[in-house]
Amino acid sequence: GERLPTDLNQLADEYLRLAYHGLRAKNKSFNATLDTDLAPDLPLVEAVGPDVGRVLLNLFTNAFYAVQQRREQQPGPDYTPTVRVRTRLLPGGSVQISVRDNGTGIPEAVRQKIFQPFFTTKPTGQGTGLGLSLSYDIITKGHNGTLSFVTEEGQGTEFIIELPLSARNS
Ligand code: ADP
Ligand code: MG
Repeated sequence: GERLPTDLNQLADEYLRLAYHGLRAKNKSFNATLDTDLAPDLPLVEAVGPDVGRVLLNLFTNAFYAVQQRREQQPGPDYTPTVRVRTRLLPGGSVQISVRDNGTGIPEAVRQKIFQPFFTTKPTGQGTGLGLSLSYDIITKGHNGTLSFVTEEGQGTEFIIELPLSARNS
């Protein structure tokens, strides 16, 4: 695909809907609160829309899985499974989009492996282990961006994408 000036807010909205419906359809008994915090007047980025959309789908799918896992460990009313997507303009001249969950978090021993192709902690049939390695390539090689994460075991995880601004903004 071709890189075009892209509104990440619109992309997030579109793919979030897609992810949400897909995940609800697969799992009718589970629900998570969805928070969106989209910056108004976000500058455009240079992106292949369907590729970045695919990354967002991967991140949402992982986030929902993580909150669902934690729900199983913590069935009480004091846990509200929540996934948040946020966009913002960074001072350095890039746009950030992040997907944060308050799920299981990623254990320390697992952290250095998650971007490796075929690495998964999920049972057979539930994960291919390709989502994050593919996402990493799309963002870094395909968009000159970065994909990083912050996690705390038992608390949750945030995946953070940064993309350079489109020249079309100026
Ligand atoms: P898959 O989802 O098929 O397992 P991914 O490449 O998407 O493959 O993710 C690799 C692994 O990274 C997962 O199996 C899981 O252990 C870990 N992981 C990814 N996202 C999260 C998250 N939001 N919370 C906890 N663990 C995660
Ligand atoms: Mg995945």
